[in-house]
Parts: sequence; structure tokens; C-alpha cells
Amino acid sequence: MTSPTFTARFRCAEGCDFQAPLTEVVYRCGRCGGLLEVDHDLDALRRRSPEEWKALFESRFRTGPWPLGSGVWGKKEWVYPELATENVVSMYEGGSPLLRLDRYAAQIGLEDVWLKECGVTHTGSFKDLGMTVLVSAVKEMRARGKKIRAVACASTGDTSAALAAYCAAAGIPSVVLLPRGKVSTAQLVQPIANGALVLELDTDFDGCMKVVQELSLTPDIYLANSMNSLRIEGQKTLSIELVQQLGWKAPDWIVIPGGNLGNASAVGKGFALMKALGLVDRLPRLVVAQAENANPLYRALTAAGRAPGPEVEVAPVRASRTLASAIQIGAPVSARRALRALAAMDGLVEQASEQELSDAAARADRAGAFACPHTGVALAALEKLAARGTIRRGDRVVVISTAHGLKFSEFKVGYHEGTLTGVAGNLANRSVRVAPTLGGVEDAIAARFGRG
Ligand SMILES: *Cc1c(COP(=O)(O)O)cnc(C)c1O
Ligand SMILES: [Zn+2]
Repeated sequence: MTSPTFTARFRCAEGCDFQAPLTEVVYRCGRCGGLLEVDHDLDALRRRSPEEWKALFESRFRTGPWPLGSGVWGKKEWVYPELATENVVSMYEGGSPLLRLDRYAAQIGLEDVWLKECGVTHTGSFKDLGMTVLVSAVKEMRARGKKIRAVACASTGDTSAALAAYCAAAGIPSVVLLPRGKVSTAQLVQPIANGALVLELDTDFDGCMKVVQELSLTPDIYLANSMNSLRIEGQKTLSIELVQQLGWKAPDWIVIPGGNLGNASAVGKGFALMKALGLVDRLPRLVVAQAENANPLYRALTAAGRAPGPEVEVAPVRASRTLASAIQIGAPVSARRALRALAAMDGLVEQASEQELSDAAARADRAGAFACPHTGVALAALEKLAARGTIRRGDRVVVISTAHGLKFSEFKVGYHEGTLTGVAGNLANRSVRVAPTLGGVEDAIAARFGRG
């Protein structure tokens, strides 16, 4: 079914006429220095009807021949059409669950709330979706004789884990730069286990990012950060996938946590493409949720006092420590991309305090979820917008869960044991120590649930 007529290339996202093939090592526009985006030949894609695309994607979903059962590569024509199949490096990413959270929704005055569990995947975060495309592109470049010594990234943890795993699968060396002491144990041990060169720097994420950008000027070190627009192509499939899971109907709202703002941009790009090709007839409204301690986008829009648009200047801030460590970012590299997505999707930006994100995660957990702190930020934003009446009772909302809660067990344990500084365990559930006897257990049951 794959047809050689579909093509894509890099183009300047700021609108210059700069273009480059996807096999070139290039991250920024050669004319204006702006970020790039992958541009698809829409006329070619339009030669298939919306119904044909839907049927094709459904026929491959989680079952297609390798690697088409991957949630990303099942949509290869929309991602990287010309990539040779033998160069695809896949860990069967995507195809993640879309859960309905009825009990949680009822508690916050809503009726139709869904959780897109992008963390239920090989390395436990949505970063797999983009990394499969980037590492596949590197494999293709190397196969064509381009010298790439290693692939490098700066990371708040999850990007490193994904880069290390995909590079290990492909046999490509990887280098990860992490802010020392600011990533979870699980996030640190993943790239170590996968054989990456793991460098711990005494700085924050923004400090690591600065070094890695300088490093990427070395021609044979390839940069894997999300300024690299190949990752956006993989991540955008999460929006196509969730619409597919809802029977090809767009929800009313998407709520997503934002740090470097690549993922919010990717959601915008996925919806724009679906709309352009007629798979949806309207766009959902987009909510980007930031931690109050790392809120450059929220601050910029509040100061501007206007609706989001690329004209808004996002001044860098010094990000303070937040439990949502993967979004502790003060100078988001994809701010302008995200502002364009917000403008197209009638979007808004909300923020959450440490207490709010912790309680929101715990509230969702009590209804069966296991939310990471970043998902907690998105849930807290949802709760505020529902309380304010901006999101109405019957609205259909999809919250993007960005990582598996198990990657952040320190956060969970700390909340329930009451050891997080500045955060009260309002919904804490303590374990109970009892005598190893039937009586001891019965007393504990009675104390919690009453006598039978
Ligand atoms: C990377 C990451 C984010 C933020 O995504 P951006 O694209 O940087 O905005 C949120 N949550 C988790 C768990 C992440 O790993
Ligand atoms: Zn340009």
C-alpha cells in the first residue's frame, strides 16, 4: 500500500523560502535562524480520501506487519514517507491506551474526561514517539554514508531515556547531558542501563541545553533535542491516534503539560494536518498547563493581556524547582511553535502550584489512574478551568498523560508519607502497620471501613 509519491522536507517555520532534505544535518533556517518544520506534500496526500486514510490507519493499528503496527509508523506517509523501511528503528511505540476517567470526572463536575496514556510505552514517556523518528533518520543518514559519531541531547530525564534506548536498539552511540540531582532515579538509570555516555552537569536543564547546542556545532555530533523538528513529526501522531480512538471525532478540549513546548506544538501540527486532509472538520481547544515554578509562557500571556499568537514575546525566566521536573524549563525552545498552535486552536494557558499538581494527581489516582507529576499539572489546570466554568460539564476533554507514574515513585511516596517540602498530603493514604494476626488485620479493616 505504501506509495513512493509521498514526500516531505524541512522548511523554515517562520515562513522564509528555506528548504532542505530530511537527510541533511540542519536544525535551523539558513536565512533567519528560526526553527524548521517538516513540510508534507499535501496535494499528494489529498489523492487519498479521508475515508481511505482512516481505513488504512485502522488496518495497521497495533497489528500491522513490522513496523506498521507501531502507532507512529502505521502513519508513516504522514511522518517520514521516504524513509527506507529497513532503517526504521521502532520499539513498537504509540498505540497507547485512551482511558475514560468517569469517577474522577464526576468529582470535578465533568462528565466526559479521558486520559491519553502516552507514558504506557517502551521507556515510559511520550518521548518515544519522537525519538523513533529521529533515530531512524540518523540510521538512514549513516546508511547513506554520512559520518555521525554520536547522537546527543540535554534532558530533564525522559528524552535521555528514549534516546539511549533507541540508539542501543540501532547500535548508534548516544551521549546524554543531565542536570545533576534533578532527575528521578528511574530516569537516571535508564540511559545508564542502555549504555549511553551519561554526563551529569552541575546546572539546570537550561544550562545543559546551552552546552549541547554548542556541542551540536561539531559536525559529526547529531542533536536530538526537540528543536529538532523530526521529533515533532512522531509526537504529532498522538493527536491522530486519540482522534482515531474516539471514532474519528475531535474532542472539545486537549489539556497538555508544557515545558519546552515541543509536544504542545506537535499536537497542533497533528490536528492541522487532519483538518487539512479532511479527517476532522473542527479543531479542539488547546490548554497548555505549566508549573507555577516554571511558567514563562503563562507569564508572557498574562503580561501581554491578549490571546496567544506568535507576536507574543516569551521572555526566559529562571525556573524554580518543581516536582514536575521534566517541565522545569525557563527558556522553552518551541515557544513560538506552541503560540502558533494555541492561536490555531483557540487555546489558553493555565498554571498549577506544587500543592495543586500533587492533589490533582492523587485525586485521579484515587479514581484508578497513576498520574506522574506533569500529568498532575494538566489535571490541576483542568480542575481550575472546570471550576471556573470555562470547560463545561458536558464538554469532552482529553488530558495528555506524558509519562508513566512509576518513573516518579519518589513523588508518590513523598506525597503519601507527607515528606514533600511545602506540600500537604491532603489525599494521602498511609500504609498501616499491624500485628501479624487475624485480630490485627480485622481491627485495621474495621478502623477504615467500619464493622461488618
Ligand atoms: C518532556 C516532558 C514534558 C514536556 O514536554 P515538552 O515538549 O518539553 O513541552 C512533559 N512531561 C514529561 C513527562 C516529559 O518527559
Ligand atoms: Zn527562516
